[in-house]
Amino acid sequence: MLALLAGNKDPFDLEGITRGPGTRDCPTEIPSAFDERIIGCICHEKSSSVNYMWLYRGHPKRCECGHWFKLVYKAPV
Ligand SMILES: [Zn+2]
Repeated sequence: MLALLAGNKDPFDLEGITRGPGTRDCPTEIPSAFDERIIGCICHEKSSSVNYMWLYRGHPKRCECGHWFKLVYKAPV
């Protein structure tokens, strides 16, 4: 609540992240204050399902659709 009052509308990064190029060398970066996080990839623009997976710090991961993700450190709130 204090973060919201300070102007941070998404202190826990729960809003969707627009994917970047998503290559192995330029993965979409996912912020987390922990060593692991569950993420969901909407693999195709018109897909009606989400592909959930665990992402671990230091281990970039490739979704079944070929998109790469990487966990990056973010200081806790
Ligand atoms: Zn995907």
